[in-house]
Amino acid sequence: MSDSRINLLGMTRPELEAWILERGGKAFRARQLFHWLYKRGETQFEAMTDLAKSFRAQLDAECEVRLPEIVTRQDAADGTIKGMLRADNAQGFEMVYIPEEGRSTLCISSQVGCAMDCSFCSTAQQGFNRNLTAAEIVGQVFLAQKELGFQAGDERLISNIVLMGMGEPLANFRNVVPATRILLDDLGFDFSRRRLTLSTSGLVPQIYKLAEESNVALAVSLHAPDDELRSQLVPINKLHPIAELLAACWHYIDEQNGRSVTFEYVMLEGVNDSPAQARALARLLRGHPAKVNLIPFNPFPGSPYRRSRPEVIRAFLDQILQGGVMATIRKTRGDDIDAACGQLAGKVIDRITSRRGSRRIAVVAEPARPAPGGPA
Ligand code: SAH
Repeated sequence: MSDSRINLLGMTRPELEAWILERGGKAFRARQLFHWLYKRGETQFEAMTDLAKSFRAQLDAECEVRLPEIVTRQDAADGTIKGMLRADNAQGFEMVYIPEEGRSTLCISSQVGCAMDCSFCSTAQQGFNRNLTAAEIVGQVFLAQKELGFQAGDERLISNIVLMGMGEPLANFRNVVPATRILLDDLGFDFSRRRLTLSTSGLVPQIYKLAEESNVALAVSLHAPDDELRSQLVPINKLHPIAELLAACWHYIDEQNGRSVTFEYVMLEGVNDSPAQARALARLLRGHPAKVNLIPFNPFPGSPYRRSRPEVIRAFLDQILQGGVMATIRKTRGDDIDAACGQLAGKVIDRITSRRGSRRIAVVAEPARPAPGGPA
């Protein structure tokens, strides 16, 4: 039944206004609805007490606020929480909450699976299943807040959003861009543009398009300093080689008056982690608004790579810094529950059956389980 109703979640404010006007309503109702939905986390129209009764009845008849369903929740030893949400009976998509000193980040997905086929990423192994809707994208943030125990009037529980979960966000431009508008809307979630980061494997035409339509912070998965190696690791490089990609990045920063692009670089032992490769990387980026984020490789079953040793990563970092480029090492979080970068795989059925009762992790398989009191 619910599928035939219009889902108000995921509509941008202008879309919502147009929808209300079409039905003879007043435009300011969209602001009120936004406030109830995104500021207060309310999903029931009858609770939205400043809306006219007749309007509430109309909403009840025609639409709903439909959140994605949580299938499992896993809590890692370091406080990282992974939520698996249902896409259909066999497939899911994942979000990861990462609390840190002074900030907390939610990593959200943009697709079920991924078509980019990067050789070091476990999501790639599942292939591409489908795009997430705008409702499913913002629904992750909505649900994460709920799971964390958010109540109307509370301080924000999530300070940063990264589109670094499953999928290639720019391959789902049509849904991702409206979702970012809702996340940025000051009457919506009201995230600052610097705290909302979109990461791409390098879809060059879409980076130009993004520069026209959005101003989120941009991260790019570079992973190699030369085209030959990058094409092996990130196949889209064959279509859009490094020089083209970097030109698009600098254009984005110019257009959006942004600070810098973050270049992600996964550290693969003996593949891309030599001092010469670090120097080549620094030469590519020096003098540009760029910073590098080194990601220790997170292994997954069947992967052909190994993580570079800590001292090798450290030396690589030093070479980049000496080369005049800002760089940091990403802390690995949540790897005991396969929640770290590149470990999101999203098979709903497999997970529940293969992991239930495992000693390594506790999987709660009941659907839509409310978190009593939320995590500590
Ligand atoms: N498709 C987008 C969004 C995914 S972001 C993109 O490619 O940018 C996830 C980040 O984790 C990317 O930088 C990705 O390259 C990196 N990653 C993927 N697999 C990984 C792994 N096994 N270990 C560490 N990082 C990985």
